[in-house]
Amino acid sequence: MALITKKIKGTEDVLPKQSYRWQFIENIMREESRVYGFKEIRTPVFEHTELFARGVGQTTDVVQKEMYTFDTKGGESVTLRPEGTAGAARAVLEHALENEGLPIKASYFVSCYRYEKPQAGRLREFHQFGLEEYGTQSPAADAEIICVAQSVLDRLGLTGIHLELNSIGCPECRAKYNQALRDYFSQYKEQLCDTCLSRLEKNPMRLLDCKSPEDKLIAKDAPKITDFLCEECETHFKEVQKYLDSAGVKYVINPTIVRGLDYYTKTVFEFVTDCIGAQGTVCGGGRYDGLIEELGGKHLPSLGFAMGLERILMVMDAQGIEIPNPDRCALYIATMGDEAKRKAFSLLRQVRECGLIAETDVVGRGLRAQMKYADKIGAKYSLVLGDNEIAENKAKVKNMESGEQTELALDDTFAEKFSVLSLTGDEAFQI
Ligand code: ATP
Ligand code: MG
Repeated sequence: MALITKKIKGTEDVLPKQSYRWQFIENIMREESRVYGFKEIRTPVFEHTELFARGVGQTTDVVQKEMYTFDTKGGESVTLRPEGTAGAARAVLEHALENEGLPIKASYFVSCYRYEKPQAGRLREFHQFGLEEYGTQSPAADAEIICVAQSVLDRLGLTGIHLELNSIGCPECRAKYNQALRDYFSQYKEQLCDTCLSRLEKNPMRLLDCKSPEDKLIAKDAPKITDFLCEECETHFKEVQKYLDSAGVKYVINPTIVRGLDYYTKTVFEFVTDCIGAQGTVCGGGRYDGLIEELGGKHLPSLGFAMGLERILMVMDAQGIEIPNPDRCALYIATMGDEAKRKAFSLLRQVRECGLIAETDVVGRGLRAQMKYADKIGAKYSLVLGDNEIAENKAKVKNMESGEQTELALDDTFAEKFSVLSLTGDEAFQI
């Protein structure tokens, strides 16, 4: 039989046996952002196209080439979100969250959609964890979000990821810098790729982000933004560094980091690794003080970062970091006969109430096949329930690894005693 279709290129399925890996990293991200005072925001997967056109920026790769945009039956142009910031900013404005006290601190998990060339670490549907902080100009906030990202990476046990930091200034410093870049790159007009040529006038900083090897070489000797910062931006940048120093967060200053989206100001940063090939940026972020005004709100300085979940998992694999699997069955009850089946249901309910994974046969297999299945799913303990066990109201729980058996009464105390057994091991239980 031929399948009628397969998954779309550049998308991935997360299968039941793999999902614990996602849950593990997501739980750490949730916990870390929570202790820093961030609360989760959930926004729709699609938005009006103009939100991204304005909020991400007309001169970006994302808006120019990568968006999944379509007209609805009602004739509206909508776009699948290519990132999480624009939707969060829209929701903040729409619900006037600035009236509820500043700063507004939100975290998110989103699926993102970009029509890019699929390759390792680059998908068309991918997932991000991110933070947004609105309503603070303080460099302490820049350092705070960087600390969250660093804590997440540390708790995941990742090594060899370094933080690259830069400041791309405010519109004032940038006007001077852009002119210097135009002057510099104009000398190489013949060699530049077409995209870079088209951006030379409108947004020359984008040229520093070009992926073409020839253009990268030219960009290497381009003027550095750090030589063009105004006093305020320079002070801000120094302060961020001081906060990071006191938090013990290590960084290197990389004046070529400009970030892919248009709305950044002042601080920009990336966490980068070389252990997963060319797409080595696992997290990118910074400050975007002009974004909220761009979307029609009042001046509300903001900042945030986004971390690619697929790339984080790739680094975990590359570094051989084992993720504990909590999905292993603790108790499998094999049954013989209808009465045993019903008894199993009542015992299992008790065990599950203790938070342990417990299963029985729901397929209609014979005893031998049930035991084979218990083995296959790696059940830690098994118990065979037949007429004898029911008559005596007790049964032997068997440790599937050691073969050791422990007799337990099949009454209200069963689950509690089984929990102790499974947590402490047979020997401890028998003492
Ligand atoms: P890149 O330079 O790798 O294209 P970007 O600047 O487009 O990254 P952002 O928009 O800042 O990336 O997204 C934040 C993070 O999301 C990235 O650092 C990366 O970890 C992840 N990411 C971005 N695009 C993809 C993709 N197509 N597939 C998988 N992960 C992605
Ligand atoms: Mg990109």
